[in-house]
Parts: sequence; structure tokens; C-alpha cells
Amino acid sequence: MDLHIGEACGVFGVYAPGHPVANLTYLGLYALQHRGQESAGIAVSDGETVTVVKDMGLVTQVFDERRLAPLDGHLAIGHVRYSTTGTSNWRNAQPVYRSVGDAGFALGHNGNLTNTAELAESLGMLPGMAAAQDLADSTTDSDLVGELLARAYAPEVRSDGRDLETALEHVLPDLAGAFTFVLMDDAHLIGVRDRHGFRPLVLGRIEGGWVLASESAALDIVGAHFVRDIEPGEMVVIDAAGVRERRYAEATPKLCLFEFVYFARPDTKLYGQSIHAARQRMGEELARQAPVDAEMVMPVPESGIPAAQGYARAAGIPYGDGLVKNRYVGRTFIQPSQQLRGQGVRLKLNPLPENIKGKRLVVVDDSIVRGTTTRQVVSMLREAGAAEVHFRVSSPPYRWPCFYGMDTGQRSELLAADMSVGEIRDFLGVDSLAYLDLDRLLTATGALPESFCTACLSGEYPVPVPDIDSKHVLEEDGAEPSPVPRAAESPHPSTS
Ligand code: SF4
Repeated sequence: MDLHIGEACGVFGVYAPGHPVANLTYLGLYALQHRGQESAGIAVSDGETVTVVKDMGLVTQVFDERRLAPLDGHLAIGHVRYSTTGTSNWRNAQPVYRSVGDAGFALGHNGNLTNTAELAESLGMLPGMAAAQDLADSTTDSDLVGELLARAYAPEVRSDGRDLETALEHVLPDLAGAFTFVLMDDAHLIGVRDRHGFRPLVLGRIEGGWVLASESAALDIVGAHFVRDIEPGEMVVIDAAGVRERRYAEATPKLCLFEFVYFARPDTKLYGQSIHAARQRMGEELARQAPVDAEMVMPVPESGIPAAQGYARAAGIPYGDGLVKNRYVGRTFIQPSQQLRGQGVRLKLNPLPENIKGKRLVVVDDSIVRGTTTRQVVSMLREAGAAEVHFRVSSPPYRWPCFYGMDTGQRSELLAADMSVGEIRDFLGVDSLAYLDLDRLLTATGALPESFCTACLSGEYPVPVPDIDSKHVLEEDGAEPSPVPRAAESPHPSTS
């Protein structure tokens, strides 16, 4: 990945009487930190009161012993956020909490709804569509879901305490797009995935309780074992009576393909497949598809490592390191001055000239989104004496914006949006360039090809997108108009 594009979010939940649930949630969020670094939050119930603590920053910046100690309870949810809708500020940090009469519930959301304007309008908060769009733009879709649930929540009509579950049954059918939720009230932990399952959610077992997490790796870290994926279109409710499932929509699985390519941790399993092994297979496929006569295969660390290992193995070319990554550069790093901005990439990656000098290199990364970092990496390798630089990418060109929870910015910022592979090769300054074909990438996952969303690579959006212009599709002067994206199901009027 040539830049740190915004991952959507990570969610975690635990129902485990007798366990320090806030501390377990802290560990779970720490394991999911790669999915969102802007804010972190935990909600805990002691059976009577739901307490929420959240703030801007990394998990370790938001929580310490002092903040965790008072969070007593038997049930908790947690959230790490990277803003995909709404601005990045404290008010948008999650879990979202809503009080309804004497009761209340908390919600953590991973994903992005595609019908926020319609939902805002249905709430009657604003009179017209344009105004509703303003609301949708000025707040988060998670807030909207909180409001919808609060209005459907009727503690006075239920005697069995299943108010939140009932409210969800009313609200979920109206939501479109990508949503994985963890929710809680004072007595229940609930996990939900949208009918396509864009974002992952797994169920785990811990002694005396249950865990929900965006990725199976978070289960390992809290000592839980994997039970199963929450199915697309499924709601799972956990309380003192155990676990009960209910299907609220027919499943049409479309897991985000980029979870396999980049987002998920390598030690996570999705669709029963090891992500690390799948990424190595992507490299092997790439070697078969785009061989090159070279002396060393090297990754762009760390994202390109497994695919580079696979490429080297399949090509029979020695694997080596040509770049060293500074392990301690995080998102919070502040450029010291404009003058030093050009040093930005070197602060993260520095070449090893003794490994590179005079060599014909195959350089492997998992994706190129904007290309600016990749270009600087190539330039560094040339300066360090590389004889040839052959760039290989273990996914197809990233041409379309994501509407389902990955923040890739404006379409005009996507390098491949309006450039051919030959033009990108020239822009990067490499001797050759090849991207892995989509069908080979899908084969390498080891899962069913039709069970993935590939919209950013194919333009085929599984859920009609609200308005392609909302991602600022800009045609630069003189550029050929880009092909219109295709909705795989009912096409949205603005795209047909
Ligand atoms: S558009 Fe791309 S990044 Fe977004 S959900 Fe689909 S595959 Fe993932």
C-alpha cells in the first residue's frame, strides 16, 4: 500500500461475567488498532448502568489503568475509528450512546451506509432531500442509526427486556450499504452484519463467556477461541441465557476483497483462509502472470512482504531486503517543517544500498492507490544503485472509490482512475510494471470468487451507490471521460 488509506473501523464486544471485561476490550481494541487510529472507546455495563469512555487518539493514548479501573461490569463493547463519514472529532468517536427513558444502549459501527440522506429524511429531522443530505454530511451514519434505534426502542411495551433486539428488527431492514455493528444495553451483547457482510465479524468463546471481534486475531490476543463467522444478514444476541441467532435478511456475501489484500491482519482468518498464506499465493500468481528476469525479489515493507515471498518462491529468484522500515513511525507523526516534507518517505523507508547496487530488482507491493509514495520509493532505489526496477503489484489497478467504509479519498486522487498501466509505469519511473489480474487475485484468496466485493477494482458496486459525485469524480481537463461504474444489482439512476 503506497499510502495509509483510512481503514474503516474495528469493533469488539465481550460478555463474560467474572472477567475484567473493560481490560479484555482494551486488549481486543489494541489488536484491532490497524483498523482505525483516530479515536477509541469502550462501553461497559454492570447490569444497571452503561458507562462510556471515549476519546481521540490511539487505544494506548485514550486508556490507561486509571481510566480502565472504574469500568466494572460483565459486558462491554469497544470501537476504534477512522472517520469515513463525518469529521474527525470527539463527538464522532464511538461507541455512540443513546438513553431512552431509564434505559440506554451503546453502538459501535464498522462500515458505511449508502442511504444516509434517505434515513435522515425518514427521521423527519429536516424537511427536504437537500437538507437531509446536509445532515447526512454533517454527522455520522452511526449517529443516524442510533437515532433510528432510539425511536424504535420501547421499554414500556416489552416485558422480557429484549428492547434493543426488537428495535434492531425494526431498523435493520431499512439500512443499505455496509454495516457491522456491536451493540449493548445493560444486559445484552449483540452483533450484526449487513446482508452482504462487507466487513467481517467473528464469534469467539472465552471461559464463561463470549467474544465478538472484527478479526479472529483479536480473539487470540484475549485468550478466546474462534467459534464461527457471524453470517451476512445475521444478528447474534448474547445474554445470561447464552447465544441465540436470528437471520433478518437473506445473505448475499460480498466481503471486501481488500480485507484479503491489505486491511486485515496477516494472522487473521477470513472465510476460513489464512490471510498471510493468501497473500503469499497472490505473489505466486503474480510471478506466473508477470515473470521477469531479475536477481532479487524484494518487498515494499511491510505490506508487500508476503506477496514478495510468494513471488520469489514461484519465480525461483532469491528473496532479499532492499528497504528498511522505521517501526516507530505512526500516523501521529508530525512533519517538522515544509522544508523536510520531501524527507517524509525516508523517515518511513530507507534503502539498503549494499543489497541493491547493480542489481535487477523485482519490487513487490500489495497495491498502489495514489502512487506518490511508490514513485519516491522507486527514486530511492535508483539513487541507491539499482540497475533495473520491475514493479509488481499483487492486486489490480485501484480505479474506483469505495462507498462501503474505506476512505480512499477523491476519485481524482486515485492514480489508476484515468491512467493506463503504461502511463503509470512512466509516472513511477520503473522499467516494467504489472498488476495481478482480478481473476488470479480471487483464485489466490482460496474462497469463492463471487463472495467478494470488487467494486474499487472492477467498478461493479454490489449495492447501488448514492451519488458517485459525492466522492468527487473529477475529470481533469483533456482527460478521457472514465467509464461509468456498473451497479451489479439495480443500477442507481445517477450511474445508469
Ligand atoms: S469497494 Fe473495494 S475497498 Fe470498498 S468494500 Fe469493495 S473491495 Fe473493499
